[in-house]
Amino acid sequence: MSQSEQKETADKQTVSSEPEPQSASVNPRAVCRVCKHLYREPKILPCLHTFCSDCIGQLEPFSTSPRGHFTAPEGGGRSGEAAEQDRDSLSFTVLCPECDTEVDIPRSGPAGLSTDHLALDEVFLETLVSDGPLGCDLCGEGSAESRCEVCSLNLCEFCRQAHRRQKRTASHSIQAVTELKARGRLCRPVLCSLHPGQELRLFCQPCDLPVCLECAATLHRDHRCCPTHDVIDRHGDRIRELVSARLRPRLERLEDSLQKVEISQENLQVRADETANQIRVFAREYTSAVEAHCLSLLRRLEEIRVQRRNHLHLQRAQLQQALLDVRGSVEFAERLLSCGSDAEILSAKGVTLRRLTSLAESGYDPHPATVAPDDGGSVCFLPREPAGEVEGYPLVGVIHSRTVDVSRCTVEGEGLQQGTVAQRGHFTLVCRDSGGERLARGGEHVLVSIVHKEKKNW
Ligand SMILES: [Zn+2]
Ligand SMILES: [Zn+2]
Ligand SMILES: [Zn+2]
Ligand SMILES: [Zn+2]
Ligand SMILES: [Zn+2]
Ligand SMILES: [Zn+2]
Repeated sequence: MSQSEQKETADKQTVSSEPEPQSASVNPRAVCRVCKHLYREPKILPCLHTFCSDCIGQLEPFSTSPRGHFTAPEGGGRSGEAAEQDRDSLSFTVLCPECDTEVDIPRSGPAGLSTDHLALDEVFLETLVSDGPLGCDLCGEGSAESRCEVCSLNLCEFCRQAHRRQKRTASHSIQAVTELKARGRLCRPVLCSLHPGQELRLFCQPCDLPVCLECAATLHRDHRCCPTHDVIDRHGDRIRELVSARLRPRLERLEDSLQKVEISQENLQVRADETANQIRVFAREYTSAVEAHCLSLLRRLEEIRVQRRNHLHLQRAQLQQALLDVRGSVEFAERLLSCGSDAEILSAKGVTLRRLTSLAESGYDPHPATVAPDDGGSVCFLPREPAGEVEGYPLVGVIHSRTVDVSRCTVEGEGLQQGTVAQRGHFTLVCRDSGGERLARGGEHVLVSIVHKEKKNW
């Protein structure tokens, strides 16, 4: 590593002046999920997730359109509800970093959200159990002897005085650390944020707020404030009722449903795996059936080829023989007529006539249309024709090899008997193969000429 690189690395290390995130051993209830540090001014979002006031303040506004703006009714007779609505007049919403719910931030900002005193308790405990002298959370230099209960910050003497002087934090309740340690968790009081050191012992019913004695004497002087323990049952019961009567049962239903869905997910996977196996087995067997079918088609084709070859061979031999016979006889007869004397003609007339007559009447003379009708084109493969079952699978693909035998084809129908020139007539041409079987499938090109019966001999 070069010197400059070393320097760079060193710079980077010193740049990270941010305090290290809390280690995993720290109680997670005391740690903000956004900044990963112990909560400072923890505030409860409407979705009941808690974050530092500053962390909430730094969230990107999701929507800024006000959902409702409530004006207090005139005449001073403000009901508790109206006051609540007024306090909750909205200016923007954010997405909760924990659950992604869009939640409203009050007009007054994160400070207007309820403080999470339970989270403060956790932070407090966390601070107490941590070893060694407490450092000042603000300057990091002096040792902390005081603690701001609102900011949840440990402060050195210098910073404590600065905290007192600053307008924003002047009203914060600052306690001596030794005193807090001595009090322990259970008797940690919830203090008024407006009146340092004053515990929230009363509840203002019209404002729906816990207040301190001083609040009750000043800001809430005309309101009906009663001790918190007088109203806690009523308000606690509302929460309890919603939890036990409505939401606990729903929780169970949701858990049941979730379990069902998860079981279904597992079953789906199992079923999909089984089905995939069935498909693979099917594909193997089907492929094997197709291959077997292919082999049998090739065998059948070879049979047809051999059969046709033999047939053509025979036809060729017969034609060669007939040609020899006819040519020989014709040559003999023509030479006799052109070169023979009268006596020679007359003496050979008998045998010549017998031979010529025999050839003319019964010699091998196939109609040219029926000779070698199979030029190979009549053998064809029909890939979509059903081919029956092979190894239990219905397959397609057949060889079509039958050829039309003209001598066995017929024309049927009314139109044939009563056909008139220039009139439409209907008839059916039935093509048959040499075995007399009707050819139902296409593939042949048929040339039909219709000739009037009286012109037949022309
Ligand atoms: Zn935070
Ligand atoms: Zn949330
Ligand atoms: Zn403070
Ligand atoms: Zn300090
Ligand atoms: Zn107060
Ligand atoms: Zn009040």
